[in-house]
Amino acid sequence: MLSKIVIANRGEIALRILRACKELGIKTVAIHSTIDRDLKHVLLSDETICIGLPPIINSYLNIPSIISSAEITGASGIHPGYGFLSENADFAEQVERSGFIFIGPSPETIRLMGNKISAISVMKKSGVKPIPGWNYENNKKINNIDFCNNHNININYPVIIKSAYGGGGHGMRIVTNKSDLKNAIQTTQIESKKIFNNDTIYIEQYLTQSRHIEIQILSDGKGNAIYLTERDCSIQRRHQKIIEETPAWGITPEMRTFIGECCVKVCQEINYRGVGTFEFLYENGNFFFIEMNTRIQVEHPITEMITGIDLVRKQLKIASGYPLNIKQHEISTLGHSIECRINAEDPYTFIPNAGRITRFHSPGGFGVRWESHIYSGYTVPAYYDSMIGKLISFGKTRKIAIARMKNALSELIIQGIKTNIELHLKIMNDIEFIQGNNINTHYLKNRFNI
Ligand code: ADP
Repeated sequence: MLSKIVIANRGEIALRILRACKELGIKTVAIHSTIDRDLKHVLLSDETICIGLPPIINSYLNIPSIISSAEITGASGIHPGYGFLSENADFAEQVERSGFIFIGPSPETIRLMGNKISAISVMKKSGVKPIPGWNYENNKKINNIDFCNNHNININYPVIIKSAYGGGGHGMRIVTNKSDLKNAIQTTQIESKKIFNNDTIYIEQYLTQSRHIEIQILSDGKGNAIYLTERDCSIQRRHQKIIEETPAWGITPEMRTFIGECCVKVCQEINYRGVGTFEFLYENGNFFFIEMNTRIQVEHPITEMITGIDLVRKQLKIASGYPLNIKQHEISTLGHSIECRINAEDPYTFIPNAGRITRFHSPGGFGVRWESHIYSGYTVPAYYDSMIGKLISFGKTRKIAIARMKNALSELIIQGIKTNIELHLKIMNDIEFIQGNNINTHYLKNRFNI
């Protein structure tokens, strides 16, 4: 078993990793920026190292400082969490070359699946459908002029232009008619270069009725892989998830088995090691692959709630070299779970809202889980993601999970900064959400015009 690890992240996920380490007897090193000295996991970890100034480029993306932290403290592994360097193949490679364990898949796997175009090719070979699209056949960059002038290509609008390395809902542009295509390609390329340091893009049919459904997998890189049912993440604002739930409405056991087995097959083919998520858009009974996340995801707790499996613990065990000790037939689901992402933001303008939390009260009770680093007196810095916590409910049925979520949201008190708690309450009380059978990725726009 790993004896000591560096937690190369912050906020709620750093605390989540720290808790799993403590359970397993793994010592922890919390790295942090100068503004993050008072983060909960920093206060609770065995050792701490301040690695730089608040801007992420100086701290949480500072590869030499993070690797030095492992060296100085004698740690054996580095956990990247999500975001930051978690899907950076060069980082994983440097971690391994420096003699440490990267808690995640191999750099080659991250490279293969991190590029959405090559990931689509891998999935296609395994018989999984991609979204109908153009020009990702040969993994070559779209030359915008040639592409637009090529009259042999018949494009049906609307389409979506996507960055091969996009993430977090960025690097995407919807185009509704031919006259806008060329401009949109150029703008997306410029944006992709700026944010993801790579201007490779591709074009997909824009699906107007689809749901976002994803499959959680666990794979040990030694041939053992399982899927842990699906999550429905269709409640999104500007392509970013706000609420997730599992199981997904209307997905039959046969459909679950079909798509789950496809994902497992791919994991075995590419020797995938660790936790991971295959993301699909689901429309008219078809699963269309969109991307794979080669890391732990924000919404992992809902899967833990219904399967009883601790995904971060499993991640640490796989990284320690243990074979996966659960078989597919041992996975059963115990009920229904929902997660609400609590963001520090204005509930109407959605502008992030940093500041000091003057009063805080966490919700509780049977079937309620609160994953967060915040406390009374904690100051939310302006430098990082606005998500300050995740409220998770669990119940035997969806109805109970919603009722518990409503209670929990009304018990959650965060004063001093603005949050989106009110929006979550509105959604939990919305008849369309409660019925649940008519939700797609356009729900928030259609229903609340946001
Ligand atoms: P990111 O990596 O930025 O999260 P994804 O490829 O996972 O990007 O897509 C995020 C969301 O964007 C999806 O859940 C969906 O709502 C929307 N989206 C992406 N591709 C399409 C598409 N072809 N048609 C309709 N919506 C799409």
